[in-house]
Amino acid sequence: MDARESALLESLHTGVFVNGEWRESSTGARFGVDDPATGQQLTTVADASPEDAMAALDAAAAAQDAWAATAPRVRGEILRTAFEAITARTEDFALLMTIEMGKALPEARGEVAYGAEFLRWFSEEAVRIAGRYQTAPDGKTRFMVLRKPVGPSLLITPWNFPLAMATRKAGAAIAAGCTMVIKPAQLTPLTTLLFTQVMVDAGLPAGVLNVIPTTRAGATTGPLLADPRLRKLSFTGSTEVGVRLLQQAAPNVLRTSMELGGNAPFLVFADADLDAAIEGALAAKLRNIGEACTAANRFYVQREVAGEFSRRLAERFAAKVVGRGTEDGVDVGPLIDERSRDKVHGLVTDAVARGAKVVTGGCAVDGPGWFYCPTVLADVPADATVATEEIFGPVAPIVVFDTEDEAVALANSTPFGLIAYAYTTDLNRALRLPERIESGMLGLNAGVISNPAAPFGGVKQSGLGREGGFEGLDEYLSTMYVGIPSPF
Ligand code: NAP
Repeated sequence: MDARESALLESLHTGVFVNGEWRESSTGARFGVDDPATGQQLTTVADASPEDAMAALDAAAAAQDAWAATAPRVRGEILRTAFEAITARTEDFALLMTIEMGKALPEARGEVAYGAEFLRWFSEEAVRIAGRYQTAPDGKTRFMVLRKPVGPSLLITPWNFPLAMATRKAGAAIAAGCTMVIKPAQLTPLTTLLFTQVMVDAGLPAGVLNVIPTTRAGATTGPLLADPRLRKLSFTGSTEVGVRLLQQAAPNVLRTSMELGGNAPFLVFADADLDAAIEGALAAKLRNIGEACTAANRFYVQREVAGEFSRRLAERFAAKVVGRGTEDGVDVGPLIDERSRDKVHGLVTDAVARGAKVVTGGCAVDGPGWFYCPTVLADVPADATVATEEIFGPVAPIVVFDTEDEAVALANSTPFGLIAYAYTTDLNRALRLPERIESGMLGLNAGVISNPAAPFGGVKQSGLGREGGFEGLDEYLSTMYVGIPSPF
């Protein structure tokens, strides 16, 4: 660890944050946060107990009414101030993300810009929460429709985008007038803690945002989900955990937003601009070391161009520099932990045993750290596990198809439906595909489409609800209809 990293870590608050105060956990316990590139501990963080979580909900519930009554302009200005502060501290946020999560610094800077942008977007939306006043069709009643904050919300975030997953939830909640308890991922709580301090410095009142890092996710959040004061759960993570949380949210009929796992198909038709398809494939696969819910998971390439696509993609993968994300020139950092690295290698080994060919990569890199070579696999059977399970690593399995019908059937042959990508220059096909493909998002001749102003989310087992866009704010608002008889 160099001097800048040490100084940044030393400046960080590492407690639980409840009712405007940093404190130790009620048990005094702390847990370690490791650098996945070295396996070494960076620092320790207070390990919130169920009692701390309940204190956080107490604070959120107590602050709810005043926060809901705070002028939208004030809520918006706080978000705007935080946007400016995060942007000004881009290098601190990027470095912190790189050392706790692994992504290379240039990508981490990209996430700072993306993550901060949610705050700017929602700062602008905070003042545009509109209701309506309407005459009933029979003219005898007036309708008044109000949009009100849902209420205290539990926000649970994953480790792969430590800043953006927090800001796209918290930004919307703050704009809507909801208070919240954030439970960051155990593996990457540090960025959320720095984000929390920025929100405090931006003027967020005590109790509006509370943070409970913990090693006991279920035990800590379970009591909150059972508490009738909690009105909303927003979760980003695996489908497996999401399903369990939906069951826990059912007894109190909580409003839920679920951003769950993906298994994105990447379709390349013979009429595609192949240069663009290669660039898009690199971005859709290697962004975030392949550890993105939006990562292209299965490449379906039309037979006529499959050989050329595999060869050119492999050349580009082979040229990528693997290493600690803080080092100059590194493209691909480590996977998050040993278990993830072993899982990725297991998927590659299984595909090879089933007849796939390694065009490049196919091996773990010696440690310390959990590195895996950028890998291209050709001739992958369509039902190989590497194509049916979320890989979460820098591995591109290529499956050949012949017709559009076959490509669409393959793309839809999954319980997931977060995002798909398609490359074609045929206008009719480009207009047909959005109607035929079962996913919440589609990159049409584009490898990265995430944008804070657009509705992000999935269908099928990839989730419920949307984050970002106008829709992202709706998730934190409830609708009230007031009926008024006339004549008055
Ligand atoms: P995960 O294991 O489901 O964990 C996500 C979060 O849930 C973490 O904070 C985790 O805490 C917490 N958690 C785990 N078990 C819980 C329980 N029983 N009760 C309450 N909280 C619980 O997922 P992950 O490995 O961190 O993230 C990768 C997954 O997220 C992938 O499937 C990816 O596709 C998905 N993802 C989806 C989106 C999207 O927008 N659709 C975006 C990013 C990631 P701990 O850290 O303590 O385990």
